[in-house]
Amino acid sequence: MATIESVRGQVELDELGTVLMHEHVFVLSEEIRENYPGYWDEDERVADAVAKLTALKSRGVDTIVDPTVIGLGRYIPRIQRVNEQVDINIIAATGLYTYNELPFFLQYAGPGTMFGGDDPMIAMFVNDISKGIAGTPVKAAFLKCAIEEQGLTPGVERVLRAVAAAHVETGAPITVHTNPHNESGLIVQKIFAESGVDATKVVIGHSGDTTDLDYLTKLVDGGSYIGMDRFGLDVLLPFEQRVDTVAQMCQRGYVEQIVLAHDASCFIDWFSAGTTEDAKDAAAPNWHFTHIHDDVLPALRERGVTDGQITTMLVDNPRRYFSGRS
Ligand SMILES: [Zn+2]
Repeated sequence: MATIESVRGQVELDELGTVLMHEHVFVLSEEIRENYPGYWDEDERVADAVAKLTALKSRGVDTIVDPTVIGLGRYIPRIQRVNEQVDINIIAATGLYTYNELPFFLQYAGPGTMFGGDDPMIAMFVNDISKGIAGTPVKAAFLKCAIEEQGLTPGVERVLRAVAAAHVETGAPITVHTNPHNESGLIVQKIFAESGVDATKVVIGHSGDTTDLDYLTKLVDGGSYIGMDRFGLDVLLPFEQRVDTVAQMCQRGYVEQIVLAHDASCFIDWFSAGTTEDAKDAAAPNWHFTHIHDDVLPALRERGVTDGQITTMLVDNPRRYFSGRS
């Protein structure tokens, strides 16, 4: 029986059930939080995360895939503590999140640097996948990297190539944060193809931020999944356009390459310095874990998407993505 690593240990692939493919438990600026902790109460935030994930489970979601890596405040013991109190599978990731430069820790070793050599990121990522993260028994089940408006900067390219190398070594699938407005998903596919990555093991994340069907069709024709994974971030693209785009890609016959999520978090501190939680909620009132089951799925059905197609996107596609190489 094929299995997948989760925060609570191995899960049979058939037991992943209904999966949201890109949700965060916590997104934290860890060095800021440790030095300016005024906004943070550990017990309160853990209890809040348990409550939010319990509500999600009550909608029938069995698994969240959490691409929180270095740069987003990954801290696995806190996730273990949450997961002890809520019955949901949380899939952990390895990788590095930057739109431009690398952390100084990585700037002076690796290809093209003062000390040269193999990229140390590769061993870091492979260790998280094969041995476990930071001395915990929790193993990463997938890789995460990012490319944004800034495009393929030297730092971003090093991360993409290190993620590709770790994928080739371990077979772990990959999720990439992309910005569809500069067609950066196509840049990712090119770099990955050069590096021997299996395109069918890649989610081009945040593809749902565009209505550009030609771009999306190029991505799926390139073999990857498209992450229609920011439902509720209606400030970036309104709800109606998000659901219309998914329905149209289903009509075009691409349902087997679409995965769904919100890219929501139980708590994200990116807005803590400049605004309140209430102001954030007012700006993006639907950006929470139950929006898909409460609002998006009914809207997709109204547009002719069948229950079978919804199952394909929420159950079958995630299972195939995490199964052995195609
Ligand atoms: Zn995210």
